[in-house]
Amino acid sequence: MAGTRRAIEVATTAVRDVVRAVVPVECPGCGALDVRWCDTCAAVWWEPPLRSEQLAPRLDVEGRAPFPVWAPATLAGPAHGFIAAWKDAGRRDLDAVLADAMRRSAAAVAPALAAIPTRLTVVDVPSRPGARRRRGRDLAALLASAAVEGLGDGGLPGVKHRRVVRLAHGEQRGGSARRRWSGMSAAVTSAPVPQGEAVVLVDDVMTTGATLAACLRSLEGRGVPVVGAIVLAVADAGRATATSGLG
Ligand SMILES: [Zn+2]
Repeated sequence: MAGTRRAIEVATTAVRDVVRAVVPVECPGCGALDVRWCDTCAAVWWEPPLRSEQLAPRLDVEGRAPFPVWAPATLAGPAHGFIAAWKDAGRRDLDAVLADAMRRSAAAVAPALAAIPTRLTVVDVPSRPGARRRRGRDLAALLASAAVEGLGDGGLPGVKHRRVVRLAHGEQRGGSARRRWSGMSAAVTSAPVPQGEAVVLVDDVMTTGATLAACLRSLEGRGVPVVGAIVLAVADAGRATATSGLG
């Protein structure tokens, strides 16, 4: 048995070495070779989440007060490489890095949300079904679970994750990754959430804000209050500095 196990270990190591030789591992932020990520680039995910809604030209929903969106990173720096590698290049090893970033952000945002006198529920902005199939996993659900844990860490236990938003079928093809990420707009439908719950939306990136705005319109059109969104990264132009408050 020990011999067999040893043989398997040797074979596994050999396969890993071959894979490494063919597909070199590199930091998605700076391209440094032979590290899954470097500390300098990964540090962007340890920044506190900042209010970022003013960066989204299409987030304005007519007749509605400004909608708070928190994000720890901008797409300007290494964050862009991390998210592209995670979403488009199958870097499953980044699941934990990005889920942890969402969890810390949600924990930091929790005190601001605690002022809301209704129960909260986390609603993910789902990936398109085609993207989910291609990736073989559900990144939106991963981020939503992390947000639920983070809200708990931050003093809001028992928040549920509800999958009530749907995007229309069909892939956006062509254009840059960033264009594709932001390419979905009004094709959103939503299901009801239990009465008395208010929604916190969770998404990976916010570029123009069109997707979040579509989710907002759909949910609030049903009478479901949406109190804010937490995303991993936002498009780059100058950032706000306030870290808390809902106003
Ligand atoms: Zn790096």
